[in-house]
Amino acid sequence: MNYIILKGIIESTIANFKCKDCNSWITEWNINILGSAGNSVNLEVICPNCKTQWVVKAEIGLINNAVTPETLMNLKNTIAWIQNTKQSWIDAIKDTDILDIRENLKNCSSIEDLFKV
Ligand SMILES: [Zn+2]
Repeated sequence: MNYIILKGIIESTIANFKCKDCNSWITEWNINILGSAGNSVNLEVICPNCKTQWVVKAEIGLINNAVTPETLMNLKNTIAWIQNTKQSWIDAIKDTDILDIRENLKNCSSIEDLFKV
């Protein structure tokens, strides 16, 4: 089980995503994991201020939505760090992981709790 990539993606999203309607920043509580396909993860983001719903598709090596230099740099740093761990990350996010996280989200009080394994 490897939450490292997903953790990096979520942290990158929190660090970089701003609501395009009202410019509000988001927290982990505003993110839902919709699912994964291959190396990509679909995240639903609901603005805490104006409640606008966004879907963010995040991929290893590329973020399609809300591309900024900061986003890409953040993700590159995440990937570099993952590679340093010498773990296989090609198939790191499995559907079962997503289901596990959905379950764990019901029980934990912060995103740090979620990834503390
Ligand atoms: Zn908003």
